[in-house]
Amino acid sequence: MNHPHLFFQSHEQSLAGKIILITGAGDGIGKEAAITYANCGATVILLGRTVKKLEDVYDAILASKGPEPSIVPLDMTGATLQHYEGMAETILAEYGKLDGVLFNASVLGNLCPFGQIKEKEFNEVMQVNVRSQFLMTKALLPIVKKSDATSVVFTTSSVGRQGRAFWGAYAISKFATEGMMQTLADEYKNSSIRFNCINPGGTRTNMRAKAFPAEDPTTLKTASQIMATYVYLMSDVSRGVNGESLDCQPK
Ligand code: NAP
Repeated sequence: MNHPHLFFQSHEQSLAGKIILITGAGDGIGKEAAITYANCGATVILLGRTVKKLEDVYDAILASKGPEPSIVPLDMTGATLQHYEGMAETILAEYGKLDGVLFNASVLGNLCPFGQIKEKEFNEVMQVNVRSQFLMTKALLPIVKKSDATSVVFTTSSVGRQGRAFWGAYAISKFATEGMMQTLADEYKNSSIRFNCINPGGTRTNMRAKAFPAEDPTTLKTASQIMATYVYLMSDVSRGVNGESLDCQPK
């Protein structure tokens, strides 16, 4: 099978001049993606709920001489459409456009038998993993249309394609994410905006450790080892790629 994204060789100009918003940019894969995008010349907007973590990413980018990022402190659990519309207005005023969005932030919830999923926990997983993406996309569509080529990347999981026992709310949220991406990709197929999903595969982060506490993390790829697909989907090389769900670590 042909997987050009896996062999994509990025360089310091791969994303030059692009403005890219990353959710959950303070830790795990989102942190790595933010630093990698900045190293490829992008100005990154770091959205997350823990300000100290976002400030550390900001400092790391400046230390490596990347373009100065900006920080959006926001807990997606309580954010409303008005919050996202305000953010969109600020991005437009500051940068005049938005070339990329990486929807990365998610919560795992509790892995348990379906009948034991608490309604409150189900709602929180759906709020962060699905509703916030819906609201943010609605708010951002008017400004992403201003770029001549915008890439919107959602983050899926293997349990978003094939359901798995005990992964209830999280798996359902990832099926919804794939569905949102496909719906948008079809609706905007004749436009300058492309929508795709990325499946990182098992990656050494806090979320993975929570899901598989007995696993030896050194057997997993680090976030920096899966970045080829992340840069590929944001770069102009992937113009024309729309409605795909790409694996960073195909079997
Ligand atoms: P992670 O280490 O848990 O990082 C998740 C990030 O999302 C954190 O920065 C977290 O902020 C942020 N976040 C969570 N809830 C938020 C909220 N309410 N508002 C704002 N930000 C919030 O997870 P990860 O492993 O890097 O996962 C990244 C993406 O890849 C997720 O979509 C996940 O489902 C997907 N994925 C991961 C794996 C894997 O093996 N790691 C496999 C398949 C798919 P704080 O740091 O403040 O908590």
